[in-house]
Amino acid sequence: MIVPTYKNYINGEWVASQSGEVFEKRNPADSDDLIAYFQKSNQADVDGAVAAARAAYDAWRLVPAPRRAEILYRVAQILAERKLAYARDMTREMGKVLAEAEGDVQEAIDMGYLMAGEGRRLFGQTTPSELRDKFAMSVRQPIGVSAMITAWNFPIAVPSWKILPALVCGNTVVFKPAEEAPLCGVNFVQAFVDAGLPKGVLNLVTGDGPGTGAPLVAHPDVRVVSFTGSTETGRRVNETCAPTFKKVHLEMGGKNPILVMDDARLELAVEGAVWGGFGTTGQRCTAASRMIVHERIYRTFVDRFVERAKALRVGSGLDPNIEMGPVISEAQLAKVMQYVEVGKQEGATLAAGGSRLTGEAHARGFFHEPTIFVDVDRRMRIAREEIFGPVVSVIPCRSLEDGIDIANDVAYGLSAAIYTQNINNAFTAMRDIDTGICYVNAPTIGAEVHLPFGGTKATGNGHREAGVAALDVFSEWKTVYVDFSGRLQRAQMDLEEI
Ligand code: NAD
Repeated sequence: MIVPTYKNYINGEWVASQSGEVFEKRNPADSDDLIAYFQKSNQADVDGAVAAARAAYDAWRLVPAPRRAEILYRVAQILAERKLAYARDMTREMGKVLAEAEGDVQEAIDMGYLMAGEGRRLFGQTTPSELRDKFAMSVRQPIGVSAMITAWNFPIAVPSWKILPALVCGNTVVFKPAEEAPLCGVNFVQAFVDAGLPKGVLNLVTGDGPGTGAPLVAHPDVRVVSFTGSTETGRRVNETCAPTFKKVHLEMGGKNPILVMDDARLELAVEGAVWGGFGTTGQRCTAASRMIVHERIYRTFVDRFVERAKALRVGSGLDPNIEMGPVISEAQLAKVMQYVEVGKQEGATLAAGGSRLTGEAHARGFFHEPTIFVDVDRRMRIAREEIFGPVVSVIPCRSLEDGIDIANDVAYGLSAAIYTQNINNAFTAMRDIDTGICYVNAPTIGAEVHLPFGGTKATGNGHREAGVAALDVFSEWKTVYVDFSGRLQRAQMDLEEI
């Protein structure tokens, strides 16, 4: 079978990298399955893409927003038509089970329709002036060329959270998808091409972090950088942008807790723990990697959670009977296995899993057992550091207050959940847990596109993705005063007597 080679998309054309180099992408469930080759883009490619976006900006920003939105609506329709095909490519490329991959594409469809609607809103404020015969208002202005750098774990959803709001606001875009999921990036861009987006408005450069991402972030004509990835890389991106005051939006790591109180519906909490901990093989920024469980129900919870985790069917996500796919790469598998060793050395009890799966069905993929450590102390590294794999720590707590204290005692603050039947417990947790997202009686995963998404502390830098909040990342306020009095009126000084 011929292995395809995909190109960059710059100024309305699919073009090869000026580096002359490509990189390969293989299926993490089957390393014999070579999916395709992609361009290994360099500084020259980035320069070309940014120049195209810069040139297209002058016209695109003046296209009326409702007309821009019509194209986004078409993008959503095209994605809906191709949902299954794109989801299959996604599962093959990054491993998540097919139902989850379909959900990923659906999220982009939802975002397309949401942002298409925003084209007829993009509300500003009109407000009375303190002076007579004067009109005051604020309007959203686009910013310019926006660079989008994304992780591989939501390879169509996350780019959609960035690219669709940026475009409806009137910005142009250079998109660098993760090197672990470039085909999803190509597929997503193809939907815009087929929807009739004018040339240069959206450009794609594939490649790795240092060779492609870094020059893109540093490029002087890029005005906004929206980044999703690890906290370590996000810090570097932030530092690169600081000297030129680029607007930077960062969505980074997590160490998300589920609190299970002694009045919780236990089966529901166990169900949530399994989905939150092992959905997407634990490779979600919102994955529930810490279960903080009230001591009164601790043993019962652990027994049922372990039983459920051990029964999970692990394998290729293209098989509809499979519940958990592979981890993304050999390197990530090694990291997971290293953390399992760390957990053992720290004295946590390994209650489920703990090993790479190596049988006939798993031999060519990066499969790891769903793994649970119990009796974990909050100071252990496995309770504090993001592992990004199918490893969950169960930590006992004495009370709601103790549980919230443990929940907040990490560097990250993305998502949290509490299982309780007590409304006072629920509202206390909603107020006191220091995260950007909080769930009651549902696991830490399951964001909806019309609400803000993002985190506190080392997870984010104060911005939010999705919902109307996304428009704040990709627009700037301009305040406009219109004086139709025909005379000089001085604010704060020429106040009239009443
Ligand atoms: P990563 O930081 O390794 O890579 C993310 C992206 O940054 C990739 O496209 C990569 O090529 C690029 N990159 C790497 N070095 C760069 C540099 N010096 N300059 C510019 N770009 C560079 O992260 P990953 O392993 O792909 O993804 C996993 C991480 O992403 C986890 O920490 C996870 O929590 C986080 N994540 C966060 C969210 C969120 O919304 N908060 C969502 C998904 C994933």
